[in-house]
Amino acid sequence: MPVPRRYVTDAIVLSRFDLGEADRVLTLITPELGKLKAIAKGIRRPASRLGGSLEPFAELTVALARGRTFDVVTEVRVGHAWLRLRDDLERAATAWYLAELADRSLEERHSAEAQYALLHRAYELLDAGMDPGRVARWYEMHLADELGQRPEVDRCVECDRRLEEDETFRWVPALGGLLCAAHPGPPAERTNLSRDALKLLKAYRHRPIEEVCALRLPPEVESEVEAAMRAFVRHSLEREARSLDFLDEVRGR
Ligand SMILES: [Zn+2]
Repeated sequence: MPVPRRYVTDAIVLSRFDLGEADRVLTLITPELGKLKAIAKGIRRPASRLGGSLEPFAELTVALARGRTFDVVTEVRVGHAWLRLRDDLERAATAWYLAELADRSLEERHSAEAQYALLHRAYELLDAGMDPGRVARWYEMHLADELGQRPEVDRCVECDRRLEEDETFRWVPALGGLLCAAHPGPPAERTNLSRDALKLLKAYRHRPIEEVCALRLPPEVESEVEAAMRAFVRHSLEREARSLDFLDEVRGR
C-alpha cells in the first residue's frame, strides 16, 4: 500500500530516544502501517507544540509527513490516556515490557491490526486495575498466537495426541509447547509442568481475560506459568526482553 506524503494514523508509542539537542525519535505501533519510526523535531524545547502529548501509555492520533530517514510528526492528539499506567510502578514496568515485546516481534511497515488491538486491550486492562502479571501472561500467549507461534497447550507437539488429565507431560518452548512422556530427550530443554500450571496455561489460551483475572490461584502456580511463558517468549524472540530486569526489580525479585 503506497503511503501518501502526509497521513494521519492512530498510534501507541513503543519506545523513544532523544536525538541531538531537542529532537526525539519514536517507535510507534499503528494498525495499518504496523511498526514505524518517526521523529518529533524540537519536542524537547519548552515551547514545542507537540509537547507532552507524544508519550507512551496513550492511544494517540498522529499526523506525519514522509521524511527521508524517519517520517516527521506534525501534530498529535491524545485519544485515550491510560493515566493509571503511570501512577503505579509495576503497572508502568509491565506496560513497558508489553511494548518491548511488540517492538521486538514486529517488522516495520507491515500491517499489525491484531497486534495493535492486543496491546490496546492490554493497556486498557492494566489501566482498569487488572492484575499486571495476569495481563502480561495473557498478552504473551495471544501475541505468540498472532505471530503464528501459538503455544500448544492441549496436544503433544510430537504425536499430536490430546493429552489426558492423568498423563505426565513437559513444557518444551523449542518445540512449541507440551510434549508427552513418549519422547525422551535432554532434560535441560524440557521442564515438568504441574497439572495446575497446565490448567492455567489452558485458561490463558481459551478463556476470556476477565475470567482468568477472577481466578484465585496459589502463587507457586502463577510463578510456574510465568517461568513457562517467559521461556516461551525468550525462545520466540531468541533472547530475553531487556525490560524484564526492571520489572523484576520493581516487583522486588
Ligand atoms: Zn507425544
